[in-house]
Amino acid sequence: MEIVRAEGIYLFTRDGRRYVDFISGIGVANIGHQHPQVLAAIRRQLERHLHVMVYGEYVQEPQAEYARRLAELAPVRDGVVFFCNSGTEAIEGALKTARKFTGRKKYIAFEGGYHGDTYGSLSAMSSEIYRTPFLPLLPEFEFLPFDDLDALSRIDERVAAVLIEPVQGEGGVRIPSPEFLPALRKRCDDAGVLLIFDEVMTGFGRTGKLFACEHWRMGQVASGKSQAAGGELANLQTRNLPIDSIGVERSRDCIQPDILCLAKALGGGLPLGAFIGRREIMQTLSENPSLAHVTTFGGHPLSCAAGFAALEVLLQENLITRSVELGEFFLNELHALAKRTPIIREVRGLGCFFAIEFQTPEATQRFVQRCREQSLIIGWTLHHSTIVRAAPPLCMTDEQTAQAWQIIQRAAEKI
Ligand code: PMP
Repeated sequence: MEIVRAEGIYLFTRDGRRYVDFISGIGVANIGHQHPQVLAAIRRQLERHLHVMVYGEYVQEPQAEYARRLAELAPVRDGVVFFCNSGTEAIEGALKTARKFTGRKKYIAFEGGYHGDTYGSLSAMSSEIYRTPFLPLLPEFEFLPFDDLDALSRIDERVAAVLIEPVQGEGGVRIPSPEFLPALRKRCDDAGVLLIFDEVMTGFGRTGKLFACEHWRMGQVASGKSQAAGGELANLQTRNLPIDSIGVERSRDCIQPDILCLAKALGGGLPLGAFIGRREIMQTLSENPSLAHVTTFGGHPLSCAAGFAALEVLLQENLITRSVELGEFFLNELHALAKRTPIIREVRGLGCFFAIEFQTPEATQRFVQRCREQSLIIGWTLHHSTIVRAAPPLCMTDEQTAQAWQIIQRAAEKI
Protein backbone atom coordinates (compact mmCIF):
# COMPACT_ATOMS: atom_id res chain seq x y z
CA MET A 1 0.00 0.00 0.00
CA GLU A 2 1.50 3.28 -1.03
CA ILE A 3 0.09 6.04 1.16
CA VAL A 4 -0.12 9.39 -0.54
CA ARG A 5 -2.27 11.34 1.93
CA ALA A 6 -3.87 11.08 5.35
CA GLU A 7 -6.69 13.02 6.93
CA GLY A 8 -8.68 12.47 10.12
CA ILE A 9 -9.17 8.72 10.51
CA TYR A 10 -8.36 7.94 6.87
CA LEU A 11 -5.32 6.96 4.82
CA PHE A 12 -5.43 7.43 1.03
CA THR A 13 -3.41 5.22 -1.32
CA ARG A 14 -1.96 5.88 -4.76
CA ASP A 15 -4.50 3.57 -6.37
CA GLY A 16 -7.26 5.89 -5.15
CA ARG A 17 -8.56 3.91 -2.19
CA ARG A 18 -9.47 5.24 1.24
CA TYR A 19 -8.71 3.17 4.34
CA VAL A 20 -9.74 3.60 7.98
CA ASP A 21 -6.55 3.77 10.06
CA PHE A 22 -7.74 1.61 12.92
CA ILE A 23 -4.34 1.57 14.60
CA SER A 24 -3.57 5.34 14.37
CA GLY A 25 -0.12 4.81 12.87
CA ILE A 26 0.43 2.53 15.88
CA GLY A 27 -0.72 4.80 18.63
CA VAL A 28 0.50 8.09 17.19
CA ALA A 29 -2.49 9.78 15.54
CA ASN A 30 -4.73 9.75 18.63
CA ILE A 31 -6.36 13.02 17.51
CA GLY A 32 -6.47 11.88 13.86
CA HIS A 33 -4.19 12.80 10.98
CA GLN A 34 -3.50 16.34 9.77
CA HIS A 35 -5.42 18.23 12.41
CA PRO A 36 -5.47 21.90 11.28
CA GLN A 37 -4.32 23.18 14.69
CA VAL A 38 -1.29 20.91 14.59
CA LEU A 39 -0.45 21.91 11.03
CA ALA A 40 -0.76 25.60 11.93
CA ALA A 41 1.57 25.15 14.93
CA ILE A 42 4.14 23.40 12.74
CA ARG A 43 3.92 26.16 10.13
CA ARG A 44 4.36 28.86 12.78
CA GLN A 45 7.45 27.18 14.16
CA LEU A 46 8.78 26.45 10.67
CA GLU A 47 8.94 30.19 10.02
CA ARG A 48 10.85 30.81 13.26
CA HIS A 49 13.55 28.17 13.42
CA LEU A 50 14.29 24.49 13.02
CA HIS A 51 17.10 22.87 14.97
CA VAL A 52 19.43 25.44 16.51
CA MET A 53 21.30 24.01 19.47
CA VAL A 54 21.60 20.93 21.63
CA TYR A 55 19.76 21.77 24.76
CA GLY A 56 21.22 21.92 28.21
CA GLU A 57 22.39 25.48 28.06
CA TYR A 58 20.06 27.14 25.55
CA VAL A 59 16.38 27.75 26.03
CA GLN A 60 14.05 27.13 23.12
CA GLU A 61 10.51 28.31 23.56
CA PRO A 62 8.65 25.32 22.02
CA GLN A 63 10.55 22.91 24.31
CA ALA A 64 10.10 25.03 27.39
CA GLU A 65 6.38 25.56 26.78
CA TYR A 66 5.70 21.91 26.14
CA ALA A 67 7.84 20.75 29.06
CA ARG A 68 5.93 23.11 31.38
CA ARG A 69 2.58 21.79 30.16
CA LEU A 70 3.64 18.16 30.48
CA ALA A 71 5.02 18.71 33.96
CA GLU A 72 1.66 20.27 34.90
CA LEU A 73 -0.34 17.31 33.60
CA ALA A 74 1.90 14.29 34.16
CA PRO A 75 1.28 12.16 37.25
CA VAL A 76 4.79 12.80 38.53
CA ARG A 77 5.20 15.11 41.51
CA ASP A 78 7.54 18.03 40.80
CA GLY A 79 8.25 16.52 37.39
CA VAL A 80 11.15 17.49 35.17
CA VAL A 81 10.97 16.66 31.46
CA PHE A 82 13.83 15.36 29.34
CA PHE A 83 13.01 15.31 25.62
CA CYS A 84 14.45 12.78 23.20
CA ASN A 85 13.34 11.48 19.81
CA SER A 86 11.53 8.18 20.31
CA GLY A 87 10.06 5.72 22.75
CA THR A 88 13.11 3.55 22.96
CA GLU A 89 15.28 6.57 23.76
CA ALA A 90 12.92 7.53 26.55
CA ILE A 91 13.40 4.06 28.03
CA GLU A 92 17.19 4.24 27.63
CA GLY A 93 17.23 7.60 29.40
CA ALA A 94 15.06 6.33 32.24
CA LEU A 95 17.20 3.22 32.74
CA LYS A 96 20.42 5.23 32.80
CA THR A 97 18.93 7.76 35.19
CA ALA A 98 17.77 5.03 37.57
CA ARG A 99 21.18 3.40 37.65
CA LYS A 100 22.98 6.68 38.28
CA PHE A 101 20.50 7.85 40.91
CA THR A 102 20.35 4.62 42.91
CA GLY A 103 23.89 3.37 42.27
CA ARG A 104 22.36 -0.09 41.77
CA LYS A 105 22.87 -2.32 38.75
CA LYS A 106 19.93 -4.64 38.48
CA TYR A 107 16.65 -4.08 36.65
CA ILE A 108 13.32 -5.85 36.65
CA ALA A 109 10.93 -6.00 33.72
CA PHE A 110 7.95 -8.21 32.86
CA GLU A 111 7.27 -11.16 30.63
CA GLY A 112 5.39 -10.04 27.52
CA GLY A 113 6.61 -6.43 27.81
CA TYR A 114 7.88 -4.39 24.89
CA HIS A 115 9.93 -1.23 25.29
CA GLY A 116 11.75 -0.67 21.99
CA ASP A 117 14.65 -2.10 20.04
CA THR A 118 17.84 -0.35 21.10
CA TYR A 119 20.13 -2.36 23.37
CA GLY A 120 18.81 -1.18 26.73
CA SER A 121 15.16 -1.47 25.74
CA LEU A 122 15.74 -4.79 24.05
CA SER A 123 17.42 -6.05 27.21
CA ALA A 124 14.12 -5.30 28.96
CA MET A 125 12.24 -7.65 26.64
CA SER A 126 11.85 -11.27 27.72
CA SER A 127 11.15 -12.79 24.30
CA GLU A 128 14.02 -15.14 23.40
CA ILE A 129 13.17 -14.91 19.70
CA TYR A 130 13.95 -11.21 19.65
CA ARG A 131 16.85 -11.34 22.13
CA THR A 132 18.89 -14.22 20.80
CA PRO A 133 20.19 -12.66 17.54
CA PHE A 134 21.57 -9.68 19.48
CA LEU A 135 23.21 -11.27 22.51
CA PRO A 136 24.90 -10.28 24.72
CA LEU A 137 22.47 -7.70 26.07
CA LEU A 138 22.58 -5.79 29.37
CA PRO A 139 23.35 -8.52 31.92
CA GLU A 140 21.30 -7.74 34.99
CA PHE A 141 17.69 -7.94 33.87
CA GLU A 142 15.26 -10.26 35.60
CA PHE A 143 11.79 -10.93 34.22
CA LEU A 144 8.74 -11.42 36.39
CA PRO A 145 5.39 -12.75 35.24
CA PHE A 146 3.01 -9.86 34.51
CA ASP A 147 0.23 -9.37 37.05
CA ASP A 148 1.58 -11.90 39.53
CA LEU A 149 1.47 -10.55 43.09
CA ASP A 150 3.64 -13.33 44.51
CA ALA A 151 6.47 -12.55 42.11
CA LEU A 152 6.84 -9.02 43.54
CA SER A 153 8.89 -10.40 46.41
CA ARG A 154 11.74 -10.72 43.88
CA ILE A 155 12.10 -6.92 43.98
CA ASP A 156 14.76 -6.15 46.57
CA GLU A 157 17.46 -3.64 47.55
CA ARG A 158 19.74 -4.70 44.67
CA VAL A 159 17.30 -3.41 42.08
CA ALA A 160 17.69 0.07 40.55
CA ALA A 161 14.36 0.15 38.76
CA VAL A 162 11.30 -1.80 37.75
CA LEU A 163 10.13 -1.09 34.21
CA ILE A 164 6.52 -1.82 33.27
CA GLU A 165 3.77 -0.88 30.85
CA PRO A 166 0.70 -0.25 33.06
CA VAL A 167 -1.26 -1.95 30.27
CA GLN A 168 0.84 -4.22 28.07
CA GLY A 169 0.42 -3.30 24.40
CA GLU A 170 2.54 -5.62 22.27
CA GLY A 171 1.87 -8.24 24.92
CA GLY A 172 -1.72 -8.23 23.67
CA VAL A 173 -3.47 -5.41 25.60
CA ARG A 174 -3.09 -7.10 28.97
CA ILE A 175 -4.66 -5.20 31.85
CA PRO A 176 -3.36 -6.01 35.32
CA SER A 177 -5.76 -6.86 38.12
CA PRO A 178 -6.77 -3.93 40.37
CA GLU A 179 -4.32 -4.88 43.13
CA PHE A 180 -1.23 -5.34 41.01
CA LEU A 181 0.08 -1.82 40.33
CA PRO A 182 -0.66 -0.58 43.89
CA ALA A 183 1.22 -3.61 45.25
CA LEU A 184 4.08 -3.00 42.83
CA ARG A 185 4.30 0.66 43.88
CA LYS A 186 4.41 -0.35 47.53
CA ARG A 187 7.05 -3.01 46.98
CA CYS A 188 9.24 -0.49 45.10
CA ASP A 189 8.84 2.05 47.90
CA ASP A 190 9.75 -0.53 50.53
CA ALA A 191 12.90 -1.58 48.67
CA GLY A 192 13.93 1.93 47.56
CA VAL A 193 13.51 0.93 43.91
CA LEU A 194 12.47 3.39 41.19
CA LEU A 195 9.28 2.57 39.33
CA ILE A 196 9.34 3.41 35.61
CA PHE A 197 6.06 3.43 33.68
CA ASP A 198 6.32 2.96 29.94
CA GLU A 199 3.30 4.87 28.64
CA VAL A 200 4.66 5.22 25.13
CA MET A 201 1.61 3.41 23.78
CA THR A 202 -0.96 4.02 26.52
CA GLY A 203 -0.47 7.76 26.99
CA PHE A 204 -2.52 10.65 25.64
CA GLY A 205 -6.04 9.38 26.14
CA ARG A 206 -5.60 5.95 24.62
CA THR A 207 -7.04 4.04 27.61
CA GLY A 208 -9.67 6.62 28.57
CA LYS A 209 -7.41 8.64 30.85
CA LEU A 210 -4.69 11.09 29.86
CA PHE A 211 -2.23 8.48 31.17
CA ALA A 212 -3.15 4.87 31.86
CA CYS A 213 -1.70 4.85 35.38
CA GLU A 214 -4.51 7.25 36.35
CA HIS A 215 -6.84 4.25 36.42
CA TRP A 216 -5.20 3.04 39.63
CA ARG A 217 -4.59 4.57 43.02
CA MET A 218 -3.21 3.22 46.24
CA GLY A 219 -5.57 0.88 48.03
CA GLN A 220 -7.83 0.43 45.04
CA VAL A 221 -8.48 1.43 41.50
CA ALA A 222 -9.35 5.01 40.59
CA SER A 223 -12.33 6.31 38.65
CA GLY A 224 -13.70 4.97 35.41
CA LYS A 225 -15.82 2.16 34.15
CA SER A 226 -14.45 -1.26 33.56
CA GLN A 227 -13.98 -2.68 30.15
CA ALA A 228 -11.64 -5.45 31.15
CA ALA A 229 -12.31 -8.96 30.05
CA GLY A 230 -14.24 -10.79 32.70
CA GLY A 231 -15.04 -7.50 34.41
CA GLU A 232 -12.19 -7.66 36.93
CA LEU A 233 -12.05 -3.89 37.03
CA ALA A 234 -15.82 -3.59 37.28
CA ASN A 235 -15.83 -1.98 40.71
CA LEU A 236 -13.63 0.96 39.95
CA GLN A 237 -14.39 3.64 42.48
CA THR A 238 -15.23 7.17 41.56
CA ARG A 239 -14.03 10.04 43.63
CA ASN A 240 -14.18 13.82 43.44
CA LEU A 241 -11.45 14.56 41.05
CA PRO A 242 -9.95 18.03 40.73
CA ILE A 243 -10.74 19.86 37.55
CA ASP A 244 -7.59 21.20 35.98
CA SER A 245 -7.14 24.52 34.20
CA ILE A 246 -8.92 23.50 31.06
CA GLY A 247 -11.63 21.46 32.60
CA VAL A 248 -10.39 17.92 32.33
CA GLU A 249 -11.31 15.56 35.12
CA ARG A 250 -8.17 13.88 36.28
CA SER A 251 -6.85 11.96 39.21
CA ARG A 252 -3.87 13.58 40.86
CA ASP A 253 -3.24 10.86 43.37
CA CYS A 254 -3.11 7.89 41.11
CA ILE A 255 -0.29 5.37 41.28
CA GLN A 256 2.63 7.59 40.31
CA PRO A 257 5.81 6.35 38.69
CA ASP A 258 9.18 7.82 39.63
CA ILE A 259 9.85 8.16 35.91
CA LEU A 260 7.24 8.26 33.15
CA CYS A 261 8.26 7.42 29.56
CA LEU A 262 6.33 8.90 26.65
CA ALA A 263 6.56 9.00 22.84
CA LYS A 264 4.25 8.19 19.89
CA ALA A 265 1.27 10.59 20.32
CA LEU A 266 3.54 12.90 22.33
CA GLY A 267 4.87 14.44 19.09
CA GLY A 268 1.54 15.01 17.35
CA GLY A 269 2.80 13.09 14.30
CA LEU A 270 6.46 14.17 14.44
CA PRO A 271 9.21 12.20 16.19
CA LEU A 272 9.43 12.98 19.90
CA GLY A 273 10.02 11.08 23.11
CA ALA A 274 10.33 12.15 26.72
CA PHE A 275 11.00 10.82 30.16
CA ILE A 276 9.63 12.74 33.08
CA GLY A 277 11.00 12.17 36.56
CA ARG A 278 10.90 13.75 39.96
CA ARG A 279 13.30 16.70 40.17
CA GLU A 280 15.69 15.08 42.66
CA ILE A 281 16.00 12.05 40.39
CA MET A 282 16.48 13.99 37.15
CA GLN A 283 19.08 16.20 38.81
CA THR A 284 21.45 13.26 38.69
CA LEU A 285 21.83 13.81 34.94
CA SER A 286 23.08 17.39 35.38
CA GLU A 287 26.19 16.63 37.36
CA ASN A 288 29.15 14.30 37.64
CA PRO A 289 29.75 14.69 34.74
CA SER A 290 27.70 17.72 33.78
CA LEU A 291 25.31 17.04 30.90
CA ALA A 292 25.62 13.33 31.62
CA HIS A 293 23.02 12.42 29.01
CA VAL A 294 22.37 14.56 25.91
CA THR A 295 20.94 14.21 22.41
CA THR A 296 21.31 16.55 19.44
CA PHE A 297 17.77 16.49 18.12
CA GLY A 298 15.87 15.56 21.29
CA GLY A 299 12.93 17.93 21.70
CA HIS A 300 13.12 19.23 18.16
CA PRO A 301 11.26 22.54 18.04
CA LEU A 302 8.92 21.37 15.28
CA SER A 303 8.07 18.20 17.20
CA CYS A 304 7.47 20.14 20.41
CA ALA A 305 5.24 22.68 18.65
CA ALA A 306 3.25 19.86 17.02
CA GLY A 307 3.03 17.84 20.22
CA PHE A 308 1.92 20.82 22.30
CA ALA A 309 -0.83 21.62 19.77
CA ALA A 310 -1.93 17.97 19.61
CA LEU A 311 -2.21 17.78 23.39
CA GLU A 312 -4.37 20.91 23.47
CA VAL A 313 -6.62 19.43 20.77
CA LEU A 314 -6.91 16.19 22.75
CA LEU A 315 -8.08 18.14 25.79
CA GLN A 316 -10.18 20.83 24.11
CA GLU A 317 -12.09 18.39 21.92
CA ASN A 318 -12.75 16.09 24.90
CA LEU A 319 -11.15 13.18 23.13
CA ILE A 320 -10.34 11.42 26.39
CA THR A 321 -14.05 11.18 27.14
CA ARG A 322 -14.52 10.08 23.55
CA SER A 323 -11.94 7.36 24.14
CA VAL A 324 -14.10 6.00 26.96
CA GLU A 325 -17.24 6.14 24.79
CA LEU A 326 -15.60 4.49 21.80
CA GLY A 327 -14.03 1.85 24.00
CA GLU A 328 -17.36 1.03 25.63
CA PHE A 329 -19.05 0.74 22.27
CA PHE A 330 -16.42 -1.47 20.67
CA LEU A 331 -15.90 -3.67 23.72
CA ASN A 332 -19.61 -4.26 24.27
CA GLU A 333 -20.05 -5.18 20.63
CA LEU A 334 -16.90 -7.31 20.65
CA HIS A 335 -17.97 -9.27 23.72
CA ALA A 336 -21.29 -10.02 22.03
CA LEU A 337 -19.48 -10.95 18.81
CA ALA A 338 -17.10 -13.24 20.69
CA LYS A 339 -20.06 -15.11 22.19
CA ARG A 340 -21.46 -15.99 18.79
CA THR A 341 -18.10 -16.44 17.00
CA PRO A 342 -16.16 -19.38 18.46
CA ILE A 343 -13.01 -18.58 16.47
CA ILE A 344 -12.58 -15.58 18.82
CA ARG A 345 -10.98 -16.79 22.04
CA GLU A 346 -11.15 -13.57 24.04
CA VAL A 347 -11.51 -9.81 23.79
CA ARG A 348 -10.13 -7.31 26.28
CA GLY A 349 -9.40 -3.62 26.47
CA LEU A 350 -9.30 -0.43 28.42
CA GLY A 351 -10.65 2.77 26.89
CA CYS A 352 -10.03 2.83 23.18
CA PHE A 353 -7.23 0.26 23.29
CA PHE A 354 -8.39 -3.27 22.75
CA ALA A 355 -7.40 -6.69 21.55
CA ILE A 356 -9.17 -9.55 19.84
CA GLU A 357 -7.54 -12.90 20.46
CA PHE A 358 -8.29 -15.62 17.90
CA GLN A 359 -7.91 -19.37 18.21
CA THR A 360 -5.29 -19.71 15.46
CA PRO A 361 -2.72 -17.56 13.59
CA GLU A 362 -4.48 -18.45 10.30
CA ALA A 363 -7.80 -17.07 11.55
CA THR A 364 -6.02 -13.95 12.77
CA GLN A 365 -4.43 -13.37 9.38
CA ARG A 366 -7.68 -13.98 7.55
CA PHE A 367 -9.45 -11.48 9.81
CA VAL A 368 -6.81 -8.81 9.18
CA GLN A 369 -6.97 -9.50 5.45
CA ARG A 370 -10.78 -9.31 5.35
CA CYS A 371 -10.67 -5.99 7.18
CA ARG A 372 -8.14 -4.68 4.71
CA GLU A 373 -10.23 -5.82 1.73
CA GLN A 374 -13.03 -3.73 3.21
CA SER A 375 -10.68 -0.77 3.67
CA LEU A 376 -9.88 -0.95 7.36
CA ILE A 377 -6.27 -1.23 8.56
CA ILE A 378 -5.64 -3.30 11.65
CA GLY A 379 -2.86 -5.79 12.48
CA TRP A 380 -1.68 -8.50 14.80
CA THR A 381 0.98 -7.62 17.33
CA LEU A 382 4.65 -8.19 16.62
CA HIS A 383 4.92 -10.84 19.31
CA HIS A 384 1.62 -12.68 19.13
CA SER A 385 0.35 -14.17 15.91
CA THR A 386 -3.15 -14.71 17.34
CA ILE A 387 -3.80 -11.27 18.81
CA VAL A 388 -5.12 -8.30 16.86
CA ARG A 389 -4.61 -4.99 18.58
CA ALA A 390 -6.76 -1.94 17.87
CA ALA A 391 -6.06 1.68 18.71
CA PRO A 392 -8.31 3.76 16.46
CA PRO A 393 -8.15 7.57 16.39
CA LEU A 394 -10.14 9.04 19.27
CA CYS A 395 -11.86 11.54 16.99
CA MET A 396 -14.08 8.96 15.25
CA THR A 397 -17.63 10.19 14.68
CA ASP A 398 -20.62 7.99 15.46
CA GLU A 399 -21.13 7.35 11.76
CA GLN A 400 -17.48 6.39 11.24
CA THR A 401 -17.64 4.19 14.31
CA ALA A 402 -20.72 2.37 13.01
CA GLN A 403 -19.07 1.85 9.62
CA ALA A 404 -15.86 0.54 11.18
CA TRP A 405 -17.86 -1.83 13.34
CA GLN A 406 -19.75 -3.21 10.33
CA ILE A 407 -16.41 -4.00 8.67
CA ILE A 408 -14.96 -5.69 11.78
CA GLN A 409 -18.10 -7.70 12.36
CA ARG A 410 -18.34 -8.87 8.76
CA ALA A 411 -14.64 -9.76 8.73
CA ALA A 412 -14.90 -11.82 11.93
CA GLU A 413 -18.08 -13.60 10.86
CA LYS A 414 -16.58 -14.55 7.49
CA ILE A 415 -13.48 -16.30 8.86
N1 PMP B 1 7.36 1.20 24.53
C1 PMP B 1 6.18 0.76 24.07
C2 PMP B 1 5.13 0.35 25.06
C3 PMP B 1 5.91 0.72 22.70
O1 PMP B 1 4.72 0.29 22.27
C4 PMP B 1 6.92 1.14 21.81
C5 PMP B 1 6.71 1.12 20.30
N2 PMP B 1 5.76 0.29 19.81
C6 PMP B 1 8.15 1.57 22.32
C7 PMP B 1 8.32 1.60 23.69
C8 PMP B 1 9.25 2.00 21.42
O2 PMP B 1 8.95 3.22 20.84
P1 PMP B 1 9.73 3.68 19.53
O3 PMP B 1 9.30 2.78 18.42
O4 PMP B 1 9.33 5.13 19.35
O5 PMP B 1 11.19 3.55 19.82
